[in-house]
Amino acid sequence: MLKQVFRRQSATVALLGVLLNLLGTAPVALAQISSCSDFQEVKDLQDALPGVGTSRAARAASQDQLWNAWKNTARKIFSRYLRGEMSADSFESCALTSEDREALRDLLPQIFFEESLSLLEKSQSSSIQSFMRILHERTHGNHLVLFRLVGHFRDQVPPTSSLAGVQRGSGSIFMNFAKIPPNEWLVILIHELAHSLDDRLQEAVMKFSDEGLVKELAVFATKSQDPGLLPAELRSRTDRWLMAGLDRGFLAEYRAWTITFQVYQDGLRERLWNPIPWLDSILAIKGPNVPLASFTLHYLDSNFIDPTDGIFSLPLIKRELKNVRNALRNAQEPPPLGNFTQVIF
Ligand SMILES: [Zn+2]
Repeated sequence: MLKQVFRRQSATVALLGVLLNLLGTAPVALAQISSCSDFQEVKDLQDALPGVGTSRAARAASQDQLWNAWKNTARKIFSRYLRGEMSADSFESCALTSEDREALRDLLPQIFFEESLSLLEKSQSSSIQSFMRILHERTHGNHLVLFRLVGHFRDQVPPTSSLAGVQRGSGSIFMNFAKIPPNEWLVILIHELAHSLDDRLQEAVMKFSDEGLVKELAVFATKSQDPGLLPAELRSRTDRWLMAGLDRGFLAEYRAWTITFQVYQDGLRERLWNPIPWLDSILAIKGPNVPLASFTLHYLDSNFIDPTDGIFSLPLIKRELKNVRNALRNAQEPPPLGNFTQVIF
């Protein structure tokens, strides 16, 4: 329970909530064009598969051919999605067998992800290039470890009702393409990848799960409500623990959104995507001379509500958290962006 406390629900409400509100809760209205024709190449090859009497080599060759046809199909599906020409469950009417569905389940995440990355790799912006470099370094080229795609079949239940997210344990992300407007796909992908590549987030998750400290604090908090009375050593441990909590919630969003804002603006200049009104309306608030990181920090800060359950219901902890957040708010410099510093500067 406690580990959930600093989850990023509040920042999600602040920013992705804006997105959901603007879109309404109904699924994105994509053009209802049937994409069954995308499967024709596969169907033709399936019908022509060699029979039992043919040589093993010939059978293997036609299986290879079929697999390549599946890949082409998956690419067509991705392009169709990006063009906004696909309904959320447009495959349901395409008479796919269970093996077909399995092939798609295996291939769509790979192809959606690979094609997305190759679009991003064409970028000339230094922020996007740096981001891609971090991605390659961290995954040693095996990007798929980070990625899950949902939304292609009704029976494939997304982990949550959100558009996208990161699984805290594994760091792997999921994206529901049935819910994400195609023009926002790459931007949301960058945002979710930023979470899963965030070194400070992984570290903070470890530091925050300090059950011993929580017990110690709970005992102290029943005796006093004034954080000033905490012994110096316990207070500094408490502050580090509270910072770890913020680092996996509020500050994780601060880092990921600073990167997302930067990448969004750079990609927009290159026409990697078209303007996204809800992002533009947030960025319009930023003064011309305000550094992006400071803007993001203060924008999120005003929307991020402190947790109030468990140990956070105790006045001593509430007050100390308020102190820690005030210190962040009033610091000369915004907190470091960790391994993403080079994306912004
Ligand atoms: Zn986020």
